[in-house]
Amino acid sequence: MYLKTLTLKGFKSFASATTMRLEPGITCVVGPNGSGKSNVVDALAWVMGEQGAKSLRGGKMEDVIFAGTAGRPPLGRAEVSLTIDNTDGALPIDYTEVTITRTMFRGGGSEYAINGTNCRLLDVQELLSDSGLGREMHVIVGQGQLDTVLRATPEERRGFIEEAAGVLKHRRRKERALRK
Ligand code: ATP
Ligand code: MG
Repeated sequence: MYLKTLTLKGFKSFASATTMRLEPGITCVVGPNGSGKSNVVDALAWVMGEQGAKSLRGGKMEDVIFAGTAGRPPLGRAEVSLTIDNTDGALPIDYTEVTITRTMFRGGGSEYAINGTNCRLLDVQELLSDSGLGREMHVIVGQGQLDTVLRATPEERRGFIEEAAGVLKHRRRKERALRK
């Protein structure tokens, strides 16, 4: 499994549709300060279902929508698509290529789709949670996050390990079942 393409449209500073093709192995994003490198990483987290505005370096969720510049008016929606190569079947779905799309409108919530079919956030979370790309996203280590791990309480540390081991999905399912 590897990330194949990432397309940003109206997401943060990426007003025009921008597609990045990735290869297996290491990808480096280089550019001057403020050119949008971290925005690319935010887009990755967002399309995989990130729900925290702070994790996306914003005040509110809508801050991910292109806010306009001197020469360009703001946009009404943000859309990010991530295509994952699944020829090794790491994702529990019968497709060799999986595209997750998240769309957000100003004043509205998010919409999700898997291979073009609308779905719930839960479906995206469950699709990813066994692959090591889970909700708490320890695959994305942001600035300052190493500190968080080092200073974590034993309970928090256990949470990290459970997420990595894929136990958390079953715990959440159990919690949901008990609520019903
Ligand atoms: P550094 O090297 O300093 O880490 P960077 O390449 O990571 O920089 P980013 O933080 O990704 O840069 O991009 C910051 C830019 O994105 C800022 O110019 C900011 O104005 C712009 N930006 C963020 N959110 C939006 C938005 N919603 N609409 C328009 N532009 C935005
Ligand atoms: Mg940055």
